[in-house]
Amino acid sequence: MIKVVKFGGSSLASAEQFQKAGSIIRKDKARRYVIPSAPGKRDANDTKVTDMLYSCYRQAILDEDMDEDSDEKDSVNFEEMLKKIQNRFDLIIAGLKLSLSLEKEFKIIRENFSKKAGRDYAASRGEYLNGRIMAEYLGYEFIDAAEVIFFDEEGNFDAQKTDAVLSERLMHTSRAVIPGFYGSMPDGKIRTFSRGGSDITGSITAKAVQADLYENWTDVSGFLVADPRIIKNPKAIDVITYRELRELSYMGATVLHEDAIFPVRKEGIPINIRNTNAPEDKGTLIVEATCQKPRFTITGIAGKKDFASITVEKAMMNSEVGFCKRVLEVFENNDISIEHMPSGIDTMTIFVHQDEFEEKEQKVIAGIHRAVSPDFLELESDLALIAVVGRGMKATRGTSGRIFSALAHANVNVKMIDQGSSELNIIIGVRNHDFEAAVKALYDIFVTTQI
Ligand code: ASP
Repeated sequence: MIKVVKFGGSSLASAEQFQKAGSIIRKDKARRYVIPSAPGKRDANDTKVTDMLYSCYRQAILDEDMDEDSDEKDSVNFEEMLKKIQNRFDLIIAGLKLSLSLEKEFKIIRENFSKKAGRDYAASRGEYLNGRIMAEYLGYEFIDAAEVIFFDEEGNFDAQKTDAVLSERLMHTSRAVIPGFYGSMPDGKIRTFSRGGSDITGSITAKAVQADLYENWTDVSGFLVADPRIIKNPKAIDVITYRELRELSYMGATVLHEDAIFPVRKEGIPINIRNTNAPEDKGTLIVEATCQKPRFTITGIAGKKDFASITVEKAMMNSEVGFCKRVLEVFENNDISIEHMPSGIDTMTIFVHQDEFEEKEQKVIAGIHRAVSPDFLELESDLALIAVVGRGMKATRGTSGRIFSALAHANVNVKMIDQGSSELNIIIGVRNHDFEAAVKALYDIFVTTQI
């Protein structure tokens, strides 16, 4: 059995957290490949090492560009910032009682910063150094991600080359630490994924070794049925399918980087989200398919605020060939992405992100008039969309009815309801100010009353 384990920043923020991660890894021999993030926040007022590195690099460039004896020079120079970063790592090393010294590493980093090695290089050092410490602590081999994770000339991830090199390398390495978040370009330059990208490295590694399980250790016990900022102590989701997860993540539920799903999904490797601070919790298992009945009719609720809607009305529009296409082209020509598009017999409504739409509003209205000469155009703003997601809905009658009555009881006016044809999700549009009340009402009807 092979498990790839990724630890997030908060799981490796201090020596104490490292010890928790260490005992989790040692407890199961199958945990052979470890992907660390950079040290995260130790408490709410702390700064992530990745953010410190970005600021430090910015300062290095400023210092470089400034005249040596200019009095504009910032009082906090890059040397001091780098010292602070080194101190974060030294504290971890001391707490773990390791004899490792990062003095040489920091000398190289200092030189590369002066040579303007790039923002991505700077950010990647958090994972690189944490990987060095983790490898020393566990007695595992250290593999620099720059040697096994690749990007092409344009900076896009090169899945083929990575898989070939990484799987070959790991075939001969029984236990290794590979830092998350970065890789290298054909010219050797360091390149990172987007923020939170260590999740992707974990997924790529799980695919390369054909792991039985990809464990993603973080600071929550998996995905929750609803946002804990709205619902007090919401239930955790035991099992969720990749498709359900896509729907929920798209609507704002974030625990895992979205791009981390694709490499393992294709291989049928499950992901288990686990809590480093509560390792006895089972967490959430993300799978391709399951015949396990969900605990509730719905798997989760997620939503986002600040949408605008544009309703186009024209008698007999349904018999006008190409009507929808012409309307949609107006949005395309103005480079506005469409979020949702429920339609009626003589109407179609387009939901867009308000901030993207606002500045182009008048151009879009004029464009629609020119394209289809509507009878009537109506705009609304400050709308929220809520997705109720669940594979269990297919087999249950009356889900929409329950949604309507729950929202009516909570005095929430439903502006729109749209059921996806897969019957996996129902999207509900409400006013921004009703958003929280709507989520609470839905949670109550589908979860609280079912326990
Ligand atoms: N350290 C990086 C970040 O803060 C990547 C990661 O943690 O996954 O975004």
